[in-house]
Amino acid sequence: MIIAVLLAAGVGHRMGSELPKQFIEVAGRTILEHSIRAFSAHAGVDEIVVVSHADFIDRVRSLAAPYPKVRHIVPGGKERYDSSMAAIRLYEGMPDACLMIHDAARPLVSQRIIGDCIAALSRYDAVDVAIPATDTIIQVDAEGHIASIPARSTLRNVQTPQCFRLSVIADAYHRGLADPGFVTTDDCGVVHRYRPDVPIYVVEGESTNVKITYPSDLALAEKVLS
Ligand code: C5P
Repeated sequence: MIIAVLLAAGVGHRMGSELPKQFIEVAGRTILEHSIRAFSAHAGVDEIVVVSHADFIDRVRSLAAPYPKVRHIVPGGKERYDSSMAAIRLYEGMPDACLMIHDAARPLVSQRIIGDCIAALSRYDAVDVAIPATDTIIQVDAEGHIASIPARSTLRNVQTPQCFRLSVIADAYHRGLADPGFVTTDDCGVVHRYRPDVPIYVVEGESTNVKITYPSDLALAEKVLS
């Protein structure tokens, strides 16, 4: 069972719009609907859950109505990981199911990326998507001086979906949330830290699989989608 989890509970102030960015229209459809269409179109995806801000559940229900794979619309939480947890809890009774946790704000995810992730899930319990870093990345110290310059050939920029066997991601969060020092930016980070025994395979991402964050990202999305 392959379940796509579309995280759409953010309020995205960086876009400078009243409406959360997942409801902005690009090429005639909302960003969230483009993400729903991408996962609906892939034969390997069995069902979709949309995690929405509680105030927008009715809006999500009506835009998801034409897509029968959307089986659940659940309220998210304050932090991104609270929203991931809302989906993980929903499937707790299905330890062998696989979740593909995706930023709904990445409407340009390709069928190739989705397919490669599903193929990798037959061999791995955790799968990330990333592209080679094109800029040199420096690590700085408290004074703002360069502390280290990691070899660029080893660095990647992370995208989504991030995919997991339910039992693994649930266990990693269970351990993480019990840790008073728990901090996280993404789901793979939680598995890497709290289930270091689990190898995380990395699928090649695409430069077009951007997270719509700033108004300038909308122009790229418009171009690719139309
Ligand atoms: O804020 P950011 O752009 O990093 O969010 C990435 C994705 O996670 C977005 O699709 C956003 O809607 C979602 N999110 C969420 N719940 C939150 C914060 C973000 O579902 N509390």
